[in-house]
Amino acid sequence: MGHASTRSVTLTGLSAHLIDIDADTHAEAGAAPGDAGLHVVGLPELSVWPARARIRAAICNGAPPWPDTQVTVTVTPALPVYNAAADLALAVAALAAAGLIPPERIAGRVFLGELALDGQICPIRGVLPMVAAAVRAGISTVVVPAACAREAAQVPGAVVIPATRLADVVDDLCHGTLRNPHHDHGSEVALSSPFAVDLADVPGNPAARRALEVCAAGGHHLFLSGDGPATMLAERLPGILPPLTGETAREVAEIYSLAGHPGRAPGVTPPLSAPHHTSTAAAVFGSVAGNRPGAVSLAHCGVLHLADAPEFASPVLDGLCRPLDSGQVHLTGLGRSVRYPARFTLVLDTRPCPCPERREECACTPEVKRRYRARLALLLSRVAVRAPVEQRDTSARAGEPSATVAARVLAARIRAAHRLADTPWRTNAEIPAPDLRTRFPVTPEAAELLRSAANAGLVTADGLSRLLRVAWTLTDLRGADRPQADDAAGALDLWKRADTDAAR
Ligand SMILES: [Zn+2]
Repeated sequence: MGHASTRSVTLTGLSAHLIDIDADTHAEAGAAPGDAGLHVVGLPELSVWPARARIRAAICNGAPPWPDTQVTVTVTPALPVYNAAADLALAVAALAAAGLIPPERIAGRVFLGELALDGQICPIRGVLPMVAAAVRAGISTVVVPAACAREAAQVPGAVVIPATRLADVVDDLCHGTLRNPHHDHGSEVALSSPFAVDLADVPGNPAARRALEVCAAGGHHLFLSGDGPATMLAERLPGILPPLTGETAREVAEIYSLAGHPGRAPGVTPPLSAPHHTSTAAAVFGSVAGNRPGAVSLAHCGVLHLADAPEFASPVLDGLCRPLDSGQVHLTGLGRSVRYPARFTLVLDTRPCPCPERREECACTPEVKRRYRARLALLLSRVAVRAPVEQRDTSARAGEPSATVAARVLAARIRAAHRLADTPWRTNAEIPAPDLRTRFPVTPEAAELLRSAANAGLVTADGLSRLLRVAWTLTDLRGADRPQADDAAGALDLWKRADTDAAR
């Protein structure tokens, strides 16, 4: 009667939980070598068979011959969804209970890795949050697929042991020589190159550049309209946003890890996520089946850019309202429910009409153009700043570099953070309408100007709140204490800009 136990980690959304793997052998013999002498308890019915098949095949392909015993592996707590990342832990526990690995060598360690039928240890998604959970629980030694070792080593305090084949892991455990611990703790978050694009490269378009700066400073969403360099501008927004803090950089890196793109994690630069307009709702919002976050979560703490926004499918455009309002995605299905963070600055752009390129040949009627833009109506009701982008800009002198603009944005953000210190909000864009009026009053002149704009039918009540938020951002940008009439007029100007029938 042998017994062995070890640990692995499972993920729901981004929350990782340690699981206990216990294996026991039974006295009754009779199974042929490599035969079905493996029972698994604590996994959902549909997962048991494939998991058992993978583990048995992997053991037969290279590890010591399967002993002539029955092994029962118990996973606790019982999992509603099995993550194949626990394959390796199940295999070593079974082998240790059967006496093929000294049980004390697997205790107190976490094993992560999906097994291929030939015994290879395959890379898995979400290594970063899983290893972080292990270290938080006091287990620093983690065995991970070799392809994920670099990613795992970003977790401070983790002792990462890369593994390529099950047979090698068994060999190392037997000889007490878990080899090649991966030492790469130097680069905690510096994974990718910093942004190589600069605002100085964007020709002309002073109004759109100013709008970009205001959005960066206040966290406002942006609508760009025209056939100019909207994508160039959107790509440069992360570069003028304040860098991510240690906490947010870790959260963003964990999302990229779970999405299976650890190498694309943006380090301390806020991320840019720009799904193509043919993207499915699952690609944009994520999928509960594979526990895979979508484009909106890859934009978390950064920028989501929808180029040619009216071309996106209606479920995508309408579905964006929920993450915009709540800062997260909530997915349900298959009896499960997951949440992914998704708090981002939205940049929408659109051409004047549905014609693909040549405007000269355009025969679109005003009604066609109106209907095209009207697809964005729901989203535009959440956008506070609009600007035109022009292709042939006559005032095309070189603009300011990103570093200069970023410095102004940072100063404005610091003023806002100071004012919002005792509130749950970090940017002007997040302040709810009632609090905006009661806690952050503007000067009487500014209030009067906004009131007359509302009376003239230029803005709705909702629109008025958005103007107030932008007025505060303009105040922060000029380093003042309270919005004056000029700030209110500036906000109104940023609202009226762009030839937007659509925005009405
Ligand atoms: Zn047209």
